[in-house]
Amino acid sequence: MLKTPAYAAASAKEPLRPFTIERRDPGPHDVLIEILFCGVCHSDIHQVRDEWGGAIFPMVPGHEIVGRVKHVGDQVTKLKVGDLAGVGCFVDSCRACEPCRANTEQFCERGMAPTYNGTEMDRKTPTQGGYSSQIVVAEHYALKIPAGLDPAGAAPLLCAGITTYSPLRQWNCKQGDRVGVVGLGGLGHMAVKLAASMGAEVTVLSTSRAKEADARRMGASAFEVTKDEATFQKLAGRFNLIIDTISAPHDYNAYLGMLRPLGAMVLVGVPPEATPVGAFSLIAGNKRLAGSMIGGIAETQEMLDYCAEHKIVSDIEIIPVQQINAAYERMVRGDVRYRFVIDSASLAAT
Ligand code: NAP
Ligand code: ZN
Ligand code: ZN
Repeated sequence: MLKTPAYAAASAKEPLRPFTIERRDPGPHDVLIEILFCGVCHSDIHQVRDEWGGAIFPMVPGHEIVGRVKHVGDQVTKLKVGDLAGVGCFVDSCRACEPCRANTEQFCERGMAPTYNGTEMDRKTPTQGGYSSQIVVAEHYALKIPAGLDPAGAAPLLCAGITTYSPLRQWNCKQGDRVGVVGLGGLGHMAVKLAASMGAEVTVLSTSRAKEADARRMGASAFEVTKDEATFQKLAGRFNLIIDTISAPHDYNAYLGMLRPLGAMVLVGVPPEATPVGAFSLIAGNKRLAGSMIGGIAETQEMLDYCAEHKIVSDIEIIPVQQINAAYERMVRGDVRYRFVIDSASLAAT
């Protein structure tokens, strides 16, 4: 077993503190990755605070991992020592069921093994995430970070990137489409960059004007404030596609009114409480309300290669792990520009 410095929450009510975990000795199909950077996703906060229920403590969050391969098992072919590798939101799945065989491991019928706050496929061993200095993962579940992508800016692609790339592809985002991105945080700013790169005309819907200049720099051509009721009338019937990234409860019906007939609103944000949807919000205009959960390994690799080709990374603020609790407070206030990324070297000081 490999002793590994980490940061963990002992319970839903406590701040994260230094903690030591053990990683398994790498097997023949495993890679050992020395973590360089780990992005901070709002899902980390929901789970650390047990806002979705069923949280497992102690919990080491983190599923936007980029690091350097330190060791490979003798059967590994995908990666070699010295490569830059990534780990996203899951570290294993059954590899045999229909969704696994269809490269949608996130929907594994036996339940994938999430990178943290879950168990390995033995359904006993708790998994622990990327707020730590190293991780051992089966090669299939590791990603190759293409040359040319900044490793720190690429870390958030492993969750925020794939979670927004996948619905844009599923709903065939293309040149000239009018796409609304709701909430300009970690996911939202990736949605803006990706949709703009696909030729869409992007409007950001945000709670204040504060992020307007940034949104336009990222490729948005319009910016509207959702605190202003008039926005919803002004934009009625406008969008082909809305990507909703808001992490807190809000009225879906109001946003559905901004779709064109046959338009789709895809929920990627996961507010802790449910919100009612009126039938007429969907029926008038044959609108579709959908969801999307991260993406499979093959699609995640496709997204990373796409980002390298289009020179897309996340806008980040690098922090030492010791600032994680303050970073959470800022994210809850919407004060993030646009992803905190932990410099894993700071774990050595814990
Ligand atoms: P984030 O960086 O904290 O950004 C969320 C943004 O939502 C904020 O910056 C803010 O944007 C807006 N917002 C927050 N509270 C709001 C409120 N009360 N009313 C209106 N807008 C509000 O979070 P994130 O990491 O992008 O994650 C967003 C959500 O996606 C979370 O719920 C997370 O769990 C979920 N998620 C889902 C998946 C998936 O597979 N579906 C994957 C990853 C994350 P403005 O400042 O622009 O208003
Ligand atoms: Zn995430
Ligand atoms: Zn499976």
